[in-house]
Amino acid sequence: MPKITANTINAIQLLLNEKKEVLIVSHHNPDGDAIGSMLGLYYALKQENIEASLIIPNEIPESLSWLPGADKIIRFSKHKEIAKKIITNSQVIFALDFNDPERLEKMSELFIKSNATKILIDHHPSPKKCFNHVISDIAASSTAELVYVFTTMLNKKITPDSNAATCLFTGIMTDTGSFSYGCNNPRTFKVAAELVKQGVNIEDVQQQVYNNFTEGRMRLVGYSLTNKLKVFPEYRTAFISLTRDELNSFDYKIGDTEGIVNYPLSIKGIIFSALFIENTDYIKVSLRSKGEFPANKICENHFAGGGHKNAAGGKSFASMQETEEQFVSILKEYKKDLNK
Ligand code: 5GP
Ligand code: MN
Repeated sequence: MPKITANTINAIQLLLNEKKEVLIVSHHNPDGDAIGSMLGLYYALKQENIEASLIIPNEIPESLSWLPGADKIIRFSKHKEIAKKIITNSQVIFALDFNDPERLEKMSELFIKSNATKILIDHHPSPKKCFNHVISDIAASSTAELVYVFTTMLNKKITPDSNAATCLFTGIMTDTGSFSYGCNNPRTFKVAAELVKQGVNIEDVQQQVYNNFTEGRMRLVGYSLTNKLKVFPEYRTAFISLTRDELNSFDYKIGDTEGIVNYPLSIKGIIFSALFIENTDYIKVSLRSKGEFPANKICENHFAGGGHKNAAGGKSFASMQETEEQFVSILKEYKKDLNK
């Protein structure tokens, strides 16, 4: 159950009553939960007559840019000076869907330096100790679920309006693979039901998020599975790697590789999957697992990252070939755990 104490809620309520300069931020390469929970909170605070600012480190993927309010989100990478001013002047900052300011990448220094009261709402394990108030529950499906619980616990017991509901529902839906993992918890469905009551059009959300890709993205998935999938039955593992050139040949846009890492887990017997994507400064590592095998530990120990037990990410500063070789040697090390 949520580790949200009455003290925390009262303290935040007092802050909000003073109607301070409020800012909402989330992580680099934002996913549906990051954007959904930011906008859900934005619309909930609006009901308290608070017009919060919204800033993310980089781009919003196309599959989320249709969300109500998405046009209000300032991208730090594009509008550094404006963003810097807002961060510096903020008195309250809500940090959503990350446990470590490092995940703000180039924005992290400004965040850390800011004198604002920092409020974390998140569902990742072991949040860093740099927040003034922490609403953290690793049993929650998503940050969006926690934003709902949080706003309904405030004095006014804010019921999300239809905009907030659509955004929060999108967060829960995307972080649970449409209610197929991370949601063995009746509360997730209770919250979803309340959101649907507020007028979420589920078919429309599904359509916008999952059935709106470019032809290039569809062919990239086909190419990844046909040409790039490497399967290691002895380690119950499979991985896919994609270089910049490969991505560019499919007209790559941010968000196009989202979800590719999940496909190998549909192979019978495969419990661990990796995706390596070449970026300009590093190789982005995405790991997914089933059951008890801890993807986050592998990221923490080997790829300067972290995350959830079954979904984690990090970075490799080696070449693609070296990264793949390193990964295979890691598999050897964990052979026993992978075959448990
Ligand atoms: P994805 O593979 O979709 O980028 O990320 C999956 C999960 O891994 C995210 O929800 C987040 O919890 C975590 N994650 C991804 N990248 C990083 C990273 O660079 N550092 C840390 N600490 N966690 C990450
Ligand atoms: Mn999340």
